[in-house]
Amino acid sequence: MPIRVLPETIASQIAAGEVVERPASVVKELVENALDAGAGAITAAIESGGRRLIRVADDGAGIPSGEVELAFHRHATSKIAAIEDLSRIQTLGFRGEALASIAAVSHVTMVTRHEGEQAGTRLRIEGGRQASLDSVGAPQGTIVTVEHLFFNVPARLKFLKAESTERRHIAALITRYAMAYPHVRFTLEQEGQTVFRSSGNGSLRDALTDVYGAEHAEFLLPIAADLPIDDGRDDLPSVGVTGYVSAPSLHRAGRDQMTIFINGRWVQDSQLAYAIVQAYHTLLPSGRHPIAIVMVTLPPEEVDVNVHPTKAEVRFRRADAIFTAVQRAVRHTVIDQAPVAPLSESVFWGSPDWEARRERLARASREHASQLGMDLSEAAPGQHPHQRVRSSDSPTPSLPMLRVVGQVGAMYIVAEGPDGLYLIDQHAAHERILYEQIMAQRREGAPPPSQELLEPAVVELLPEEMMLLEENRSHLEAIGFVVEPFGRQAALVRALPALIAASSPTDALQAVLSEVAAGEKPTEAAAEERLIARVCKQAAIKAGQVLSYEEMQELARRLETCESPHTCPHGRPTMLTLTAEQLARQFGRA
Ligand code: ADP
Ligand code: MG
Repeated sequence: MPIRVLPETIASQIAAGEVVERPASVVKELVENALDAGAGAITAAIESGGRRLIRVADDGAGIPSGEVELAFHRHATSKIAAIEDLSRIQTLGFRGEALASIAAVSHVTMVTRHEGEQAGTRLRIEGGRQASLDSVGAPQGTIVTVEHLFFNVPARLKFLKAESTERRHIAALITRYAMAYPHVRFTLEQEGQTVFRSSGNGSLRDALTDVYGAEHAEFLLPIAADLPIDDGRDDLPSVGVTGYVSAPSLHRAGRDQMTIFINGRWVQDSQLAYAIVQAYHTLLPSGRHPIAIVMVTLPPEEVDVNVHPTKAEVRFRRADAIFTAVQRAVRHTVIDQAPVAPLSESVFWGSPDWEARRERLARASREHASQLGMDLSEAAPGQHPHQRVRSSDSPTPSLPMLRVVGQVGAMYIVAEGPDGLYLIDQHAAHERILYEQIMAQRREGAPPPSQELLEPAVVELLPEEMMLLEENRSHLEAIGFVVEPFGRQAALVRALPALIAASSPTDALQAVLSEVAAGEKPTEAAAEERLIARVCKQAAIKAGQVLSYEEMQELARRLETCESPHTCPHGRPTMLTLTAEQLARQFGRA
């Protein structure tokens, strides 16, 4: 075939494919236009998952009658005038492509009335060709109706997913915008039914309740931070991070409930999503993700929004700084505000002098124990002196002081707290304690606690283990191993992390190597933290180990001082609680 320039209609159908991928993209563009027009209420109505009909109505500024036709031209926009404007974008749109693209691949009817005009305008376009234009009576604002989407693009139609899938995408979109714009009243009607409505009263908390329901919303914690882009430079602008993130007890299998808005624009940014997940490090079971709606605000010149036709990706001038700001803001929220356990105000359990009572009870049971001739001279678990891991400016401990009652199954510690009964998994709890102890030492820059073996041990390794060893030697040394390759199929271990100095060098080395093999390692620090968690697991007291009363009390005391006492470093719970109320209910007292 000879080279030729494609006819205008075909060119615009092709271009439309970049902006309008599926029905949800149409909804997104129309909602963004409504928001740019200053709407206070936006209603989206969908039929057949958006294939038959999408209608978005707003009460925004409307379009002057003389400009309605122009709005549908490609690269026609009222939002920028010069290329420099791109670096100070305050609107969601700016490319002037959406209406033209939508009109190229559907039948569109726009009814609009500008705030300054008496009469409205109705314009109809079918597959890019104008069908009619008249003056009509209309309320202020704009109503865009899109019918028969992709009627002239059979290839795209074929790739559309089931109607239910498209409906889900559209609902996800509307609910997210409802959270990011709590002062706008959103309504979504699908197949003639109102499936979602937000109050639009301006409260983000209320919007979250509209979306997630009261039960879930209760576990969403507010973030509010204003962090410097660069710690050392106060001449630079700051990054605002607001929104809500879930308490560690609320999590999802998928990452799709993590929503990020940059300057009011919903973006897909795997880096920032990772920053959020990182903030929950060791607090969530592995493979689980938080619910998060994180809104980042920064000066427009710090972010390039013109990366992709759908504007779903952005680039940051200082990406690392934004990453750190988000991670810090979320981490702070999660650690500070995570609710402990449902608190109750019961007569017996809720007594205000719990601390004194706890001491009294503890003394009494100690005396009782010695009457029975038990040996109390055993050392507390772990060889290290008790370390306070909290820094002085930390908030109050997130775990109340506990009184140990006893041990069951040589596995769990039964304890009493101000609000009820606690069952502590001794292994998981000890893992958490050791982990925070080492991490605290690391933060202070102490060398990794390491213990030299009296005699270096030769450990035979598989070929793939040898490769892992060679690749990860620096990580192993950073956590206290001193080890070197010894011939082609063995390693010479000279020192072990102090915590596991008593284990066999073979077990110790193989355990960490299998840990290295198992996980991805996004950053050096994360890789080492994972190895430390693995060492702590190895070192922690095991299920089946009988503990003395003193050991248990020591364990509980040290757990109390942990920053994140509720989960082990691998994210499994360290304890279960039964509140006084739950007990009363179970025993038919309440
Ligand atoms: P962009 O939003 O990138 O400017 P669009 O093709 O989405 O491009 O819209 C073109 C223009 O039409 C906008 O710049 C705006 O002036 C006008 N417009 C579109 N939708 C609306 C609306 N709902 N209310 C008011 N004006 C609108
Ligand atoms: Mg637009």
